[in-house]
Amino acid sequence: MALDLLSATVAATYSLTPRVRQLVLEVDGHTFTHTPGQHVSVRYESDQDGVVYRPYSPVNGPGTDRLVLAVKQYDGGTCSVWLHERTVGDTISVMPPSGNLHLRDPARDAAFLATGTGLTPMMAMLEQYLAEDSGHAVLLYGERSPADLMYRPTLDRLSASHPNLTVEYVLSDTSWNGRTGYVQDHLDSALGSLDAPHAYICGVPQMVVDTQSALRDAGLPDDHIFSEGWEQGAVSN
Ligand SMILES: Cc1cc2nc3c(=O)[nH]c(=O)nc-3n(C[C@H](O)[C@H](O)[C@H](O)COP(=O)(O)OP(=O)(O)OC[C@H]3O[C@@H](n4cnc5c(N)ncnc54)[C@H](O)[C@@H]3O)c2cc1C
Repeated sequence: MALDLLSATVAATYSLTPRVRQLVLEVDGHTFTHTPGQHVSVRYESDQDGVVYRPYSPVNGPGTDRLVLAVKQYDGGTCSVWLHERTVGDTISVMPPSGNLHLRDPARDAAFLATGTGLTPMMAMLEQYLAEDSGHAVLLYGERSPADLMYRPTLDRLSASHPNLTVEYVLSDTSWNGRTGYVQDHLDSALGSLDAPHAYICGVPQMVVDTQSALRDAGLPDDHIFSEGWEQGAVSN
């Protein structure tokens, strides 16, 4: 049954990195009211795969008829490959936004901890956070190489124009002239200046679980640590 499916039209596409494509989707006559950090589910159907739904977190906030998605293409992937083949004017069905990741207290110091496309909800949450402009925020964003960084010009412009935002890239490319290795290895030095922050984590399940553990070890209480919430189960399986 087609439940609450919305019919969206591709209004624009843009290559963010060699593997990540931005898709601007428009739903005529609809105004999105999601909470930044939530995701939509894209419906994909083929003879081979049947019907599948995959979640994608808009990088934009609510209040318009648009969803801006940044989709990484995986080798052998189903929905991500199909989305990369979409062009302007194509129709894509999406379930309305839902999910557990969202800002709890925009006035409090915050740590945004992301790897890969885990950056997407952070972009929307950062926009909301900076509109409040009261606490200090640190974004630690892990990727493989400089070429893989999404939205780097936007992030650099945001940190240059907001003294209360620090953006640091953590790359596995050891020739990077900055932080290298894993995001979770940089928590002490990167977050040390924050006052009892809320920490928001998004990335592959193992990264989320490892980062939660490192934050607990550093003394952050559980009720200051937020993620989608299903990652521990994905790692245990
Ligand atoms: C809450 C949530 C929000 C998400 N938001 C985004 C987003 O904004 N942008 C985005 O690009 N993705 C996002 N994802 C991931 C997305 O939902 C899909 O899992 C991804 O696009 C792969 O789907 P697929 O159908 O192409 O691959 P599948 O057909 O499911 O998998 C095929 C193969 O692709 C590879 N693969 C799939 N997923 C991964 C992965 N995460 N890491 C490494 N290899 C993988 C594996 O080799 C797998 O065997 C999000 C996931 C969640 C849970």
